[in-house]
Amino acid sequence: MTVTEDRTISVQGPADDMFVCSGLGAGYGSIEVVRRFDLTAAGGSVVAILGPNGAGKTTLLNTLAGLLPALHGSVSVAGQTVKNGRPADASDAGIVLVPDDRALFTALTVEDNLLAARGRHGTTVDSAFDRFPALATRRKLTAGNLSGGEQQMLAVARALMQEPRVLLLDEMTMGLAPIIVEELMPTVRRVAEDTGAVVVLVEQHVHLALEVADRALVLVHGEVVLDRTAAELAADPTLLESAYLGGSVA
Ligand code: ATP
Repeated sequence: MTVTEDRTISVQGPADDMFVCSGLGAGYGSIEVVRRFDLTAAGGSVVAILGPNGAGKTTLLNTLAGLLPALHGSVSVAGQTVKNGRPADASDAGIVLVPDDRALFTALTVEDNLLAARGRHGTTVDSAFDRFPALATRRKLTAGNLSGGEQQMLAVARALMQEPRVLLLDEMTMGLAPIIVEELMPTVRRVAEDTGAVVVLVEQHVHLALEVADRALVLVHGEVVLDRTAAELAADPTLLESAYLGGSVA
């Protein structure tokens, strides 16, 4: 994605299913909250974005999803171009965000939530129920009557109806009981492996995120201070700790 004077983001991928952000700046008006964000991720991989409150994680995801205009930089997704700050273009390029509030239609049934997300894609509701059997038995319930964990499953299922190439998950586990979190997290890995999408995961449950991610970046005050494989970080908690405390160990 290249941000030009007219705020166009060019999305050009050197290889299929490759997601590249280069020197991305994100923020609000003249306030740059995220600076010089770089990422290259292969299809089927899971990238965790970690960091303390206020580091800019949600700002970054919202920018990648086109909800906020990027201030600088470039991104590519399998050769497609997105106009900066236009969610429909990001969606056309295959970038799909599950926001932290889940964005469900709470008055609609599970089935209708899925159908509404399908758009022009050929995905069937049954494929969503195959992945999340718990939703199948609740298909006629309104989304507002689901448990928190079921609502989150539905939010992810809705995103998958759009056949994402890049799936952005913002605080998927927020507000959920630990037992539900442990059930949900492996889904992330399976989604990446089954669909070949890049999954970018913003997550507070650091240890669980490292279990499912290939790679993790720690964002502090809008800058990446650490970028390692998840296995390396899981094996060396002091590295993570010092990054959270603001040490630049990238
Ligand atoms: P958390 O883990 O607490 O959700 P985060 O890493 O996702 O935090 P952001 O929500 O992206 O962080 O916020 C980063 C910074 O941007 C914060 O200082 C926040 O106050 C600021 N910010 C967020 N939204 C806006 C906005 N609409 N206008 C101006 N500043 C904003």
